Amino acid sequence: MATILVYNNYSNNMEIYQQAESDPMPYSTGRTLLVREFRGSSDSSVLWTDVRTMEAWNATRNAWGRNIYVGFAFKRIWEGGHGYQSQHYAGVALDLAQTATPEERNELRNLASRLGVWVYVEPAYLTPTWVHVDRRLGPPACPAGYPLVRRGSVNQYVLVLQDALNALGYTGSGLDGIFGGGTQRALINFQRSRGLSPDGIAGCATWTALTRAARGIGRTPTVVNP
Ligand SMILES: [Zn+2]
Repeated sequence: MATILVYNNYSNNMEIYQQAESDPMPYSTGRTLLVREFRGSSDSSVLWTDVRTMEAWNATRNAWGRNIYVGFAFKRIWEGGHGYQSQHYAGVALDLAQTATPEERNELRNLASRLGVWVYVEPAYLTPTWVHVDRRLGPPACPAGYPLVRRGSVNQYVLVLQDALNALGYTGSGLDGIFGGGTQRALINFQRSRGLSPDGIAGCATWTALTRAARGIGRTPTVVNP
């Protein structure tokens, strides 16, 4: 069983599901994307994504018309395996078609771009042996990466923020994707400890420091699961 948090972009709420590994991901159509496929190599008991990412998947899978192998999708930031501000930690990125031929991957990249449902389709020269697509939320706080989040924000980037703060021992923020007073206090404590402006806002400098500290550090005793 996995706890799956889904940010509903339309109602601006976090939704919580309990699903078996062989169940489909919430909002995915048919059995095209199972929980275990979305989890990939993540050992986490909790996963997250948003409705628009699942809609982008549905559109892509439907247009492709046949199975698409999903090699990697979700990871928690302390598990690492991707870049510092990777969209995989936010649950909005899929790495696809590792088992396909280079020609098929090119076809899939072209299709994904043409559909216009993804925000980013990585070019083949960067990742020739898989197809990275993501539906990131923007605008980014740094030239690339995560958007600014602050008190009142509700989304999967708040989950990444809370997860990173918890893993580093800045506890009290929970893990619910809702940026409230506890998250703000934990973030200010982190900012003070790093000599950053203690404004309680995750902008470029704070995201950079936080993701560099938390990425790939492993499951610490202060990691929180809802
Ligand atoms: Zn990727």
